Amino acid sequence: MFDGDKLLRVPGPTPVPSRVALASARPMLWHRSPEFVELFRRVESRLKALFETEGDVLIIAGSGTAAMESAVANLTSPGEEVVVLNGGKFGERWLELAHAFGAKPIELKYPYGQGVEPDALDRVLAQNPGAKVVYATQNESSTAVLNDIEALAKVARAHDALLVVDAVSSLGGAPLPMDAWGVDVVVTGSQKCLMLPPGLAFVGVSPRAWEKARASRGHRYYFDWSRYKKAAQNAESPYTSAVSLMYALDESLAMMEEEGKEARFERHRLMRAMVREGLRALGFTLFVEDRWASPTLTAATGGGVDPEALRKAVRKKTGVTFAGGQGDLKGKIFRIGHMGAATPLDMVTTLAAVEMGLAELGAPVAWGRGAGRALEVWKSWQ
Ligand SMILES: *Cc1c(COP(=O)(O)O)cnc(C)c1O
Repeated sequence: MFDGDKLLRVPGPTPVPSRVALASARPMLWHRSPEFVELFRRVESRLKALFETEGDVLIIAGSGTAAMESAVANLTSPGEEVVVLNGGKFGERWLELAHAFGAKPIELKYPYGQGVEPDALDRVLAQNPGAKVVYATQNESSTAVLNDIEALAKVARAHDALLVVDAVSSLGGAPLPMDAWGVDVVVTGSQKCLMLPPGLAFVGVSPRAWEKARASRGHRYYFDWSRYKKAAQNAESPYTSAVSLMYALDESLAMMEEEGKEARFERHRLMRAMVREGLRALGFTLFVEDRWASPTLTAATGGGVDPEALRKAVRKKTGVTFAGGQGDLKGKIFRIGHMGAATPLDMVTTLAAVEMGLAELGAPVAWGRGAGRALEVWKSWQ
């Protein structure tokens, strides 16, 4: 089979537009040259617009987990109680990081396939007045759930606790106006909604979070936020910048600005509706009810086929890659990514790929039922 561009419909890495890929191929720059200063300043101001913050946005070379680790290393002291909201693989990662840094996590578990209820956080913070940092996940990629960060931030504020949000698979694809919602720390990575190759991590830090970071005694070196802030005063990173990725970032942020924030969020909501309705029409069961459904990926099960067999058949016959379940959900669901460089038209072909996979497995298929339903949703989208 033709195997040129991989058709990635997974929750990261996502397809990289040619404009972005070409930008990353520019000649190498010295990361302390005047040209780099210009690039750094432009990227910095574009990132602040993306995060919707007047605070700092730090750029770290590493995958998304690097930014997560930095938010534990800089904000907690050994022995300190923190609250971790855990409803999937990435909530679990916060828990593991808290343990790794000697913090005492108080776990607020919420069911796989649902979001966390703000009232539950209210109760946990009331019962544990010593816990002053809450680690949350906006878009739990392992279950395809989008949490209500605006409501969680209000609760955290009321208890004078910081809210740290993993927005790795949502920032850029779903609203998260950091300052307006009163979120203290937002972490994300390059390879999801930002349409970049993997390798950069970002951390938005509010003034309240800086205060806490100064007072905390967590071990840190490469991830020491204060080093990034100090270097940024000279438009530098403390260690060698991922220069090629910075070129690419500048281009992807320009593309995001050209599309516009509202249009971008609307595109993701439309893709969600197309995929969900198309899968329903094909007899699949959606793993997440509408209330918590993520605009950047969709998880489903059923359809009379084994999800792993379906993934393999789709990939073999069409070249489209879906993700499977993680952890307890392994073999139980499949996940379709629709974030970053993906269009409504791509969702039509994605559903056609699902139909082809079903037919490959010998399941009865009414050709075009899923793809057609997606087109209907698109046509009637207001
Ligand atoms: C992808 C992802 C991460 C980061 O994973 P890396 O592999 O370290 O980039 C973190 N949280 C969520 C919710 C994610 O989807």
